[in-house]
Amino acid sequence: MEQEKIAKGNRVVIAVDGPAGAGKGAVCRAVASQLQLAYLETGAIYRALGLLALREGLQEDAAVVARATSMPFTYRSMGNGQFAAYLAEEEVTAALRAEAIGQSASRIAAIPAVRQALLAFQRHYGGVQHVILDGRDVGTIVWPDADLKIFLTASLQERAERRVRELQETGKNANFTEIYAAMAERDQRDAGRSAAPLKPAADAVLVDTTTLTLAESIDRVLHLIKNTLNQAGFTCRESLVESR
Ligand code: C5P
Repeated sequence: MEQEKIAKGNRVVIAVDGPAGAGKGAVCRAVASQLQLAYLETGAIYRALGLLALREGLQEDAAVVARATSMPFTYRSMGNGQFAAYLAEEEVTAALRAEAIGQSASRIAAIPAVRQALLAFQRHYGGVQHVILDGRDVGTIVWPDADLKIFLTASLQERAERRVRELQETGKNANFTEIYAAMAERDQRDAGRSAAPLKPAADAVLVDTTTLTLAESIDRVLHLIKNTLNQAGFTCRESLVESR
């Protein structure tokens, strides 16, 4: 099937890719809400499909692809830097974070026809608004002509430690060795697959957050995005982007 091309029009599109646990979500949510840009966590789409595949016991690739085209997924800004994922009217934001769902998402994400089925949603998202999308292949496949591409990464050790802290903070059990191994497996699957593997676009700006705090990571990304918006002819006020 020929890939659908969506014109970018006047809007600025920002692609933030990188491995699990690099801080993409936290950084993008903060930046999007500060600059009032639309934001889509593309991993949530794959996770939502992974959730449906587990719930409905979908085994065959064809059944997963069919579900991808009929999945009632929406992603909504709730204000105050919060974003929520829905399947029809069921809020699934918290359910999508489970490790089993991440693994299921990573498995189905390796099916080329699944990726193809989910492309149009990602390209239409945000309508005419400036938009940030984070994921694995936003800068390489979804928006190869994005105005700014960032590859946000951190060492595996650091990413696994962050995940452990995140789980502990929410009162959940966290075994470092298991989390490290699961993350390594997911990295390997995401980077090693033939369909849209995780890799920086040739023109991506690399941001390594291994030794950065979350606030420092947000600052760096904010600075890059503000420059891009300015270059495209938009002024960034305190918390709003305006046409010049
Ligand atoms: O980003 P997150 O960890 O939530 O993504 C879950 C899984 O979905 C990833 O491990 C990856 O396999 C898949 N994914 C993808 N392409 C994207 C976003 C996520 O293949 N753009």
